Formats: sequence, structure tokens, C-alpha cells
Amino acid sequence: MNLAPIRRLGIISALQEEQQGLVEAMQGAATHVHGRRDYTTGTLWGLDAVCVLSRIGKVAAAMTATLLVEKFGVTHILFTGVAGSGGNGVKVGDIVIADALVQHDMDASPLFPPCEVPLTGMRYFSADVVLSSRLAVAAAAFVDSALTGAISDVEQKLFGLHAVTVHRGLVASGDQFINSAERIERLARDHPGLLAVEMEGAAVAQVCFELNVPFAVMRTISDNANEKAATDFLHFVQAVAAKYAFYIIQRFCEQEAEA
Ligand code: SAH
Repeated sequence: MNLAPIRRLGIISALQEEQQGLVEAMQGAATHVHGRRDYTTGTLWGLDAVCVLSRIGKVAAAMTATLLVEKFGVTHILFTGVAGSGGNGVKVGDIVIADALVQHDMDASPLFPPCEVPLTGMRYFSADVVLSSRLAVAAAAFVDSALTGAISDVEQKLFGLHAVTVHRGLVASGDQFINSAERIERLARDHPGLLAVEMEGAAVAQVCFELNVPFAVMRTISDNANEKAATDFLHFVQAVAAKYAFYIIQRFCEQEAEA
């Protein structure tokens, strides 16, 4: 399968920590403020790129993705962030790369089936297979060779980061922070194969589908989407997820610049 050359890569995260260090690592960085967001253009490890924080939620992410394409001319989009586990063997510290994404809170039934985006005929939006595979290669390289050096022993112990696994599969997005065991279990029942829940990916997926732009979504699992999610979340994002994102994006850009 083919992928058009990455002439300009858009990198979106919801929160500052999920993209920590990337703007500082850019060469020739220039920041453009538009629609209350900072879009920083420059070169990242040899690749022309635009970094932006979307903030949280589907509308925020959709607007950011649209502007990246229409105003900043990106040809491909990566989303990097954290997510709650959807079960199916996914644990805190693992990485999930989306094969497909669904808006779990979309419900125009009985006019349309639950979770179908009305008038698109779509319930599950596929991520670009090639781009996602290359991201998975970069993620696996990080886990195999850099993780133990990048994250302190104390934090590896604290978050139980052992046998860290890169999973590929279904991600569900909605405008809700999921922090109830009952709720996540129901979502997992409604969406067989669910690996992660978050609040932006499926919105980016819809925009990229409609604008015909290849995209991939990578999530580090920060919590189990249950009653303890909020406390686990904050510490994890600062101590762990920021490092994962930086190393994996670096690896990805280096791979692409060499190709
Ligand atoms: N209490 C946090 C809330 C952030 S919302 C704060 O004040 O900053 C959670 C963010 O992380 C969203 O961008 C979402 O995509 C992701 N996320 C992580 N765990 C999640 C969960 N259990 N449910 C939904 N989104 C989650």
C-alpha cells in the first residue's frame, strides 16, 4: 500500500504535556496565532511540520484539524495524546495506535443507527494504514530501546510500567471524561474490541475523512477510565506521557526524513 509523500506534517495534541518539547525542538520555528490557537511551523528532525494544541474535546479538535489542512497546508496529520483504557488487555503505560475511531456519544437514533455520523453512512472511521504502521514502528522502537532510559525507575515502578505493549485497534471518542467502571464496561460492550477512550481522535478522523487527508492517532494509556481515573491521569501525563510523545515523534520524523 502507498502513502503520498509527507510534504508537511500536522501534529495535534489536546494538552500541553502531550506535546512537551516538540516546539522547542523545531528549527526555524515561527508561531502563528489563529482562532485562539498557536500553530508553530518549522522543521522537526528533517520534516516540515506544524505543531498545535487543540485543547480538549471533539469540536476543538475538529476545528484545529480543519485549519491545519486549509490554512497551514498540512498533507498528513498525527494526533498524539493520552487516553483511558478500554479493557481488552490494555494497561496504563501501554500505547494504542488507532485502526478505527468511533464517536461514542453520537446518537441520532432512531433516524440513524447509534454512533453513525448522520449523512456520512459511517460509524467507524479508519486511520491511514501505512501512516499508522510507521507510527507503530516508531512506538515499538521507543518501547524496546529507549523507554527504560527515558523514564525514571521510580516512575516506572509507580505506574507499573513493565511489559509495555503497543496495541492497534479501536478507539472511541466523546465529549466526556470517562471515570466510571460501569460506563467504561458499557462502552466496551457496545464497541467490541475497544482499546481506548479519549475526547478528540474520532473528530480528527471525521475531518480527515471528509478532507481526504491521511491521519494516525497514537494514545498513551494514562488511566483505566474508572473512579480513579482523574488522580492517575494528572501525574501520569506530566511524568510519563510527555516523554513517550517526544521520543516517538522524534523517531517517526527521523524515519520519514530518511525515507
Ligand atoms: N482533569 C483533566 C481532564 C483532562 S480531559 C484536566 O483538568 O486537565 C482528558 C484528556 O485526556 C482529553 O484530552 C482526553 O482525550 C484524554 N483522556 C485521558 N483519559 C481519558 C478518559 N478516561 N476519558 C476520556 N478522555 C480521556
